[in-house]
Amino acid sequence: MQALVPTRHVANIFSAEFLPCTADRQVVSIDAAGLANYMMDVGGRNIAKVFMCQQEMGNQVVVDNDNPTVFLACGDDGFVRQYDLREKIECDCNGCEKDVLLSNCVDPATDRRRKGVPLFNFFALQSKPELKAPPRGQ
Ligand SMILES: [Zn+2]
Repeated sequence: MQALVPTRHVANIFSAEFLPCTADRQVVSIDAAGLANYMMDVGGRNIAKVFMCQQEMGNQVVVDNDNPTVFLACGDDGFVRQYDLREKIECDCNGCEKDVLLSNCVDPATDRRRKGVPLFNFFALQSKPELKAPPRGQ
């Protein structure tokens, strides 16, 4: 089944995931401008909310199958942000760091920010802290 739904994205969408336990009625996504979009279907009407926190290219969103109200977003700013939709469904900021979970995506060999933080299986890695990136400045 295919469907066209409006989003508030302003650039190419690089990553999109259905939130678990929502019967595919809620989607999170991120675009090349860093805009994270949360879209929900409410009574057949699509509502799109945005998180404007990231100021550089977005790379990936990841959902947590054990916690359907939480998702992660990352991008070229080197930050991993964690959004809990129980707390808020949008952030109309201009580059805030309120939801930064990891700001430590620095390559220890070069002391430069890693571009495109890989988040694949990030939630599985939370039980293996030795596999996480080292804190900034270490
Ligand atoms: Zn924000």
